[in-house]
Amino acid sequence: MDVIIIGAGAAGLMAAKKLVEAGHKVCVLEARDRIGGRIYTFNDGALPTSLEGGAEFIHGNLEVTVELLKEAGIETKEIKGDVWEITGGKWKQENDFFKNTELVIKRLKEVKEDVSIGTFIEKYFLGEKYKGLRESLTAYVEGYYSGEINRTSSIAFLQEWLSEDEQQYRPLEGYGRLMNYLAESTWKRGGRIELSTIVKEISWKKGQVEVTSETGQAYIGQKAIITVPLGIWTAEEQATGAIRYVPALPAKKDAAKRLGFGSVIKVLLGFKTIFWEDEAVKKQAKKDLRQLHMALSDQPIPTWWTQLPNKLPLLTGWLSGPRAYKMKDKNEDVILQAALNSVSSIFKVSIEILKENLLFSRVFNWTNDPFTRGSYSYSTIETIEARKLLMAPVEETLFFAGEALYEGPEMGTVEAALTSGMNVALKVIEPSSAF
Ligand SMILES: Cc1cc2nc3c(=O)[nH]c(=O)nc-3n(C[C@H](O)[C@H](O)[C@H](O)COP(=O)(O)OP(=O)(O)OC[C@H]3O[C@@H](n4cnc5c(N)ncnc54)[C@H](O)[C@@H]3O)c2cc1C
Repeated sequence: MDVIIIGAGAAGLMAAKKLVEAGHKVCVLEARDRIGGRIYTFNDGALPTSLEGGAEFIHGNLEVTVELLKEAGIETKEIKGDVWEITGGKWKQENDFFKNTELVIKRLKEVKEDVSIGTFIEKYFLGEKYKGLRESLTAYVEGYYSGEINRTSSIAFLQEWLSEDEQQYRPLEGYGRLMNYLAESTWKRGGRIELSTIVKEISWKKGQVEVTSETGQAYIGQKAIITVPLGIWTAEEQATGAIRYVPALPAKKDAAKRLGFGSVIKVLLGFKTIFWEDEAVKKQAKKDLRQLHMALSDQPIPTWWTQLPNKLPLLTGWLSGPRAYKMKDKNEDVILQAALNSVSSIFKVSIEILKENLLFSRVFNWTNDPFTRGSYSYSTIETIEARKLLMAPVEETLFFAGEALYEGPEMGTVEAALTSGMNVALKVIEPSSAF
């Protein structure tokens, strides 16, 4: 085998496709019994649509994603609708995700030496006057980037915020189709994808790797591309999914710890009816919610979105950042109860009525998932340097990719993973481009 790829997520599959197209023999080893990693599209028949347990949105007109979707013949649908903020039971239409956007951006532009968002807030926004701003900026960093304010880089936050595209899309019938397209492109050219294969050890020397699975199966190749999430890099050696390198790579492990990796819990609640369009809810909220896209609330599971422009009786709940980390060991029933309580408070519908209307529920606790152990990466003050260290190939034999190993404004996204997979394949094909 020429190249062994660890992980069949967006990065690993993209690398596999590019390598087989360049005539390389590849074998992808994937721990789970499915491809896609943090992309998990499923359809359990309860609703006439595919559902997303992981990635769902395309955050703008992103070069690599859009090109690949086109190549795969997958259409996208633009998301339109109203964003509401609900605090203390009051509904208020929101255009921005945090208060005083202009003032925050003005102050962020004054930051010359990078500090965490926590330190930035302390410097510029102390006192009662800025209580609302502090809360909404914190909620935004935790909610959108899934980060901790005391680790998130102010300079990177500003860059990402300014480069954000207003337009958001969903791939028609889900991101999973894109993963299937990558896998089929790999198979078509003789590439292998082995599922349910948990890699335990990578023993390497220049020009040769021996990859051993948890069951003792060995795979020999000339090179390996490791695409596992940051949560795997930083896990204890005995933990499920953790990989032992022989010889060890302590500088890489240390670099991984200096990068930011958040937490997230996503909850899907499917109902028999689109109850938030009912007259009773309209009366309570004093708002017409037919165009409801997103509700940002002060509830335990704070953020909820609909499938607009598709009219479907599905609400998706989102808890991320330190609050999701705190809940990571709670069992699904506790999380589900928190979700129902949140929806009940937001829409002022009793728990009993909600439960009667509930068709199905699914909880995706990614931080508790042994092959992810978190959400996606965010920029810390140390990211630029640490990422370079983690990304650097070793002896033209070990190569590294994944959403966290991408240098650009779309960090933490499918675009980042696909780009990183594409770039690492180029490095393998033309090692001189790696240095
Ligand atoms: C809940 C959630 C919602 C998200 N929403 C969006 C969104 O709307 N838009 C967006 O662009 N991005 C979103 N993201 C981020 C996006 O999903 C990721 O950035 C991207 O899918 C990561 O791809 P990857 O290939 O780098 O990693 P992964 O998809 O995590 O792939 C790595 C693979 O490695 C495997 N693996 C781990 N350990 C081992 C081992 N020891 N042996 C073998 N295999 C192993 C894993 O099982 C996994 O399949 C979301 C992420 C989450 C968790």
